[in-house]
Parts: sequence; structure tokens; C-alpha cells
Amino acid sequence: MKKIIVTGGAGFLGSNLCRYLLEKGDYVICVDDLSSGSESNIKLEHDNFKFISHNIIKPLEFEGEVDQIYHLASRASPPDYQSAPIHTMLTNAIGTNNLLKLALDKNAVFLYTSTSEVYGDPKVHPQTEDYWGNVNPTGIRSCYDESKRFGEALCMSYYRKHNANIKIVRIFNTYGPFMQKNDGRVVSNFINQALLKKPITIYGDGKQTRSFCYVNDLISGIFLLMNSKHMGPVNLGNPKEVTVLELANKIQELIGSKSEFVFKDLPKDDPLRRQPDISLAKEKLGWEPEISLEDGLRKTIDYFKNS
Ligand code: UDP
Repeated sequence: MKKIIVTGGAGFLGSNLCRYLLEKGDYVICVDDLSSGSESNIKLEHDNFKFISHNIIKPLEFEGEVDQIYHLASRASPPDYQSAPIHTMLTNAIGTNNLLKLALDKNAVFLYTSTSEVYGDPKVHPQTEDYWGNVNPTGIRSCYDESKRFGEALCMSYYRKHNANIKIVRIFNTYGPFMQKNDGRVVSNFINQALLKKPITIYGDGKQTRSFCYVNDLISGIFLLMNSKHMGPVNLGNPKEVTVLELANKIQELIGSKSEFVFKDLPKDDPLRRQPDISLAKEKLGWEPEISLEDGLRKTIDYFKNS
């Protein structure tokens, strides 16, 4: 049985990962300060599960062995990280440093969850891992983009200086059960609005694109990377690209709602197009998503209705 720390384990991705690891038979220590995660996500009556309430900006003292650390702790929704830009930056900078030190101390494998946001508003499409990105270093998204980029550079520095066993994954838009229902992101907003028969808020003209990955697909990719020989960075996401308008229409159709669309200003620095090139994940991990947008949205809508 492996002993595994999951930071951000009470969040959307983290709570899905904790469940996945427990099913595999591992011992899981979930570390979260509940700033964007929620205790209701981890109501897990399991002997091999432990929750530690802790803000990783402070060093984490942990007795005993640790085999692996999945470092997911960070706000990730644009409205949320923009409302707490300093906390976001310090979590990704000082928090990541604290966890890297712990990994070195315990001789544990360290997996850092980076983001497609490191590509900013990309000028290369689809995005490959060797693209350095187009990020506004002082814009409203920079607290997230730049601190995630710093986190990647810090992992590489621990690897170069101390031979730390690190892995970097760049996660593209993901959705599914246990996502925060009021996180202000596009999938949750549209599902809430369509279920309540309220107007659907389209930012800009809705022609900007994203590529949405169902959470189970993403979690299996993260697990494969952690247990592979590959270091990354590696993109994980679903390469099916859709416009925001297409997403809105699909959600309306699945819910059977006829909410009107209201067009609002496009937020500053909102990336125009985003689509992962996942050739590397296919080659190195034998991974690709299996769940279609339609099937994934059905499961997510059920979660929103029933929880
Ligand atoms: N968006 C929208 N309406 C909403 C919320 C978001 O049109 O109610 C758009 C947003 O401007 C962006 C895309 O949907 O182009 C995805 O936004 P989200 O906040 O989910 O995450 P991002 O991919 O920008 O980090």
C-alpha cells in the first residue's frame, strides 16, 4: 500500500483523485485549507483516508513515510483566483516550495499540477508542450498564470539542483461531479442557468473556444504520469474543441431548456482559443480521453440536479 499526500484534496480534482487512489488500495492523506475546496467533497468513511486541514503557505510537518505527493492545491477558477490574487500566488510559489522540500525530505515522487494557462492567450494552435506561451505578466490572470509558471520552474530547479523526482502535468479545462457549483466557470454557470431557466451569460461573442475533459479521464491520466518514468511537462485534456456558444447550445439541449442568451463583456485577457495537443500523453502514457462531451455533460448535469 502506498502512502500518498494529495494537496487540494477537498477540491474538485483533488476529491476525485482521493477516491480513485482509495479504490486502488492506497493510503491517502488529503491536505486542504478549504479556501476553494469543501468538506462535503470528502465525506469518505474509509480507514485509509485522513484529512489534514492546513494552509500550505506554512510548512507541512508530517511524521512517517510518504511515497508520492500530488500537489493540486490552488484556486483555479478565474473569478475565484482574481478575488484572492495574493493567496493564489503564495500558494503556487511558497506552497509549492514547502511541498517540494517535503518530497525531497521523504524521498517521495512529486507531481505538480500546472495548467493550460501557462500558454496564456496562445499564438500556437493546438498547444504543444514545447510552446512557451503568450502571457500578460501584469494582467488580471497573471496571479494564476505566472505563479503556475513559477511553480513549473521551481520543480525544474529542484530537479536540476537536488535531482528531485518531479513530474509536471498541464491540465486543460475539466468538468464533472464534485466541481464547485458556484465557481463562476463556464460549465457550472451554464448548467445552473439552464436548470433554473435563467438567461445564459455568454461573454464576448461566444466564438472563443475551449476543450473540455471529463474528470475521470483526467484523473486516470494524472495517475499514469505519476507512475510512469516520464517527467513532463505533459498536456492532459480532451482535444475536442468547441466554441462557448456550442457549449451553451449543447447544455440547453441536454437539459431541455430554452433560456435566452445574454451577451456580456469579454473579460480582459480571456484566451481566444485553447486546445491541447495530446500526442505526448498518447506516446509516453498510452493515454487519451474516452468520455465524449455529451456523455460527460449528462453525468455532470445529474450531479448538479441530485446533490
Ligand atoms: N464564459 C462565458 N460565460 C460564463 C463564464 C465563462 O462565456 O458565464 C467564457 C469565458 O469568457 C471563457 C470561457 O467561457 O472564454 C471559459 O471560461 P472559464 O471561466 O470556465 O475558464 P477559463 O478557460 O477561461 O480559465
